Amino acid sequence: MSLILKNVILNKKPCDIKIEKCRFAQIAPAITPNSADEVIDATGKAIFPGFYNLHTHAAMSLLKGMGDDKELFSWLSKDIWPREAKFNADIIYTGTKLAMLEMAKSGTVFFSDMYFEQAAIMKAVAEMGLRSAVSIVGFDMFDEKQTAQKMEAIKAFLDLENPNPDLIKKVLAVHSVYTVSAKLIEYTAQTARDNNMMLHIHASETKKEVDDCKKEHGCSPIVYLESLGALGPSTVLAHAVWLDDKDIEIIVKNQVKLVTNPGSNMKLASGMFQFDKLSKAGCIIGLGTDGSASNNSLSMFDEMKMCSLSAKIQANDPTAASAEEVFTVATRNGAQMMGIDAGTIEVGKLADCMLVNIDNPLMIPDNNPISNMVYAADSSVVDTLICNGKVIMQNHRLADEEEILAQAKTALKYID
Ligand SMILES: [Zn+2]
Repeated sequence: MSLILKNVILNKKPCDIKIEKCRFAQIAPAITPNSADEVIDATGKAIFPGFYNLHTHAAMSLLKGMGDDKELFSWLSKDIWPREAKFNADIIYTGTKLAMLEMAKSGTVFFSDMYFEQAAIMKAVAEMGLRSAVSIVGFDMFDEKQTAQKMEAIKAFLDLENPNPDLIKKVLAVHSVYTVSAKLIEYTAQTARDNNMMLHIHASETKKEVDDCKKEHGCSPIVYLESLGALGPSTVLAHAVWLDDKDIEIIVKNQVKLVTNPGSNMKLASGMFQFDKLSKAGCIIGLGTDGSASNNSLSMFDEMKMCSLSAKIQANDPTAASAEEVFTVATRNGAQMMGIDAGTIEVGKLADCMLVNIDNPLMIPDNNPISNMVYAADSSVVDTLICNGKVIMQNHRLADEEEILAQAKTALKYID
């Protein structure tokens, strides 16, 4: 299968781009159209890498707008957990599809997910054709019976068939230090190491989490996780808002990856990620939306703008988190952090990209297209989405979007 994008704008100049199988094969002023199976006339469209959403809970798309503007624990216990208790594999499949529809329409090609019912999620991802890191979540609430059950579930997850290994990466996750026992954290970290898997953890999200950890264990969540063998180059920490200098030193030393979720952090008043300080300290940073219940958007456009603006306020410096840096965080960094050979428009890279309508008012004038993408644009600019060389969306429409929306509306009747 080969595809030519004819007359597409790359770095403000028109060119032709050929995709063969799943990679960019040629970028040239003109490529003969009959040398490919399919040609897309990309006149009036600019090509950009797709977005890599490094932290979300996709199926929570069904909980969007339920219990907004509340304190974290009362929101979780009164609004979220009782509804999640009604979630089954079918509902999670449907919620994941709804989330992927929103993500595809806003230019996202990959999401790192932390949720339940991995087989249903992997089925939804394989059908949609996006990339995902699907995790099983360590979560035992310090109950020994649940610890044992979760260990068995992790073993079963290792054997669970991956319906599309080119697109889906199986990873392990630990919910947090305040919901998971030391025994289960150690077991999950060891299993990740033994099986060369990534480990995804919510860490140091709120001041309360850090204060409680210090009371309970005499150290910060970062020091505690390191003592349990959970920190290394394959560890991705979501949020990481409340870090002190010792934490930062440990993160850099262990080459731990960080994911900032500015929308969720601001909405829940969790605090502000120290973007500028951490970037200058050499931390590897990606961007994520978190789940729809705490954001409530899965658009990386929104997230990039919030990331940049919150970083400027946090550092009291308008030069912090430039448009170029934040765009790189949302694209190339995200792909690299997840070990995906993509994130830039270059010959040889996996063909994950979006075609953006440059005649959209949000993209005019084109003094700095990256600045437009970060500070001005929204999902309405995305015309076409290509993931792993395959066209997922054209004319801002996916083939099965009516069906996904109808299924989501049906699922909502069972959880409200
Ligand atoms: Zn989260």
